[in-house]
Amino acid sequence: SYRKGGYHAVRIADNFSAGRYIAQKKLGWGQFSTVWLAYDTESSKYVALKIQKSAPQFSQAAIHEIEILSAVAAGDPSNDKCTVRLVDHFKHAGPNGQHLCMVLEFLGDSLLSLIKYNRYKGLEFHRVREISRCILTALDYLHRELRIIHTDLKPENILLCSNINPSKDPIRSGVTPVLERPEGNPNGGVVISSIEKRLKQRAKRAVARISERRIGMGGGVGRTPKPPRILDGIDFTCKVVDFGNACWADSPIAEEIQTRQYRAPEVILQSGYSFAADIWSFACTAFELATGEMMFTPKTGQGFSEDEDHLAMMMEFLGKIPRKIATSGARSKEYFDRYGDLKRIRRLKYGSIDRLLVDKYKFSDADAREFAGFLSPMLDFDPDKRPTAQQCLQHPWLNADSETSRLNAGMNDLEIKAKK
Ligand code: ATP
Ligand code: MG
Ligand code: MG
Repeated sequence: SYRKGGYHAVRIADNFSAGRYIAQKKLGWGQFSTVWLAYDTESSKYVALKIQKSAPQFSQAAIHEIEILSAVAAGDPSNDKCTVRLVDHFKHAGPNGQHLCMVLEFLGDSLLSLIKYNRYKGLEFHRVREISRCILTALDYLHRELRIIHTDLKPENILLCSNINPSKDPIRSGVTPVLERPEGNPNGGVVISSIEKRLKQRAKRAVARISERRIGMGGGVGRTPKPPRILDGIDFTCKVVDFGNACWADSPIAEEIQTRQYRAPEVILQSGYSFAADIWSFACTAFELATGEMMFTPKTGQGFSEDEDHLAMMMEFLGKIPRKIATSGARSKEYFDRYGDLKRIRRLKYGSIDRLLVDKYKFSDADAREFAGFLSPMLDFDPDKRPTAQQCLQHPWLNADSETSRLNAGMNDLEIKAKK
């Protein structure tokens, strides 16, 4: 993709915007862009520099993303709404064409890497709560104040404000910026610190160990292992990023939105979507944080499509889709008969989120009941019945950290003692 119309090749210490930004190291990449850690010589701060591919469709997409990000920044002067902040934007001419560049506040690793570092076991409840509060704060702001739908909410698109890996956080560890390309060093003089190497190796070994055990035990359910030390000292605030697919509620961008596993039923059935589609994705994300596994992983099978498998899984966890809802979308006839039953997947194994949490993920009955009580309303098949982000923020589960609120939530002393 490093050709005309594609990515812009960057070397360490390359300059951008008339010398204001100096490239330090690559942070990540996506379908549209590469993202670099850069040093802002004007503010003396590190920033994330997102360099878009140069072909017209990518520039168009960047213009849209900049428009949304500008609105997000304008409505949040104190920068406390848990959404990534656009600092600046400009054009950069390179051998592959003109690239639109976005300068964003520098954030840490994604929730997906956090789940990986935690060996695909769930995070502790207090962490899930903390993170959930941040995401819901962002959604409440986007939905209620800006009328923006994110449309691609998932762990990968939520970044921690502090880093898992201390050597990746140049601000905290006080690493001095590279201002010039050192001569004769093909890596541009960047030395990967030994601590970073060690942490990477340790995470790799941990994941390898857990996969071995999974194979050995046929499912890998068992006692929750102690979280690795890498998680110590993280405050767990996070921010929603990647507004490339976001849209204003009154002008939806596409019929098919969202990443498969986080896709709401109304999107699959094409019966129209709005803010509630983000709430569905949020519930899937919260489930994944708490269990370490995706809630829905549909697959194409013999005689049925991925969409049909997805709808079947939803019904197996959440109960039957009401006939009126099942039959109301532009694509309903492909999947459902007129009674509201799936045409090609006939025998469903009905269960519930409660049971799943207890049987598969070994939650205690009380934990399962409370967490399922938080998630279930957001997974209502009727998008109009799902709670708003503002309503979710009021849910007792989110505010149940202290013992008193646990007592208020109906838990007895013995259960609290047993937990300690
Ligand atoms: P996609 O194909 O997901 O739409 P994209 O080209 O729009 O990708 P982003 O998802 O915005 O790019 O960013 C790509 C990666 O760069 C992210 O997954 C993340 O690892 C990193 N990244 C993005 N923004 C930041 C930031 N503000 N701070 C640190 N890293 C970031
Ligand atoms: Mg992305
Ligand atoms: Mg994007």
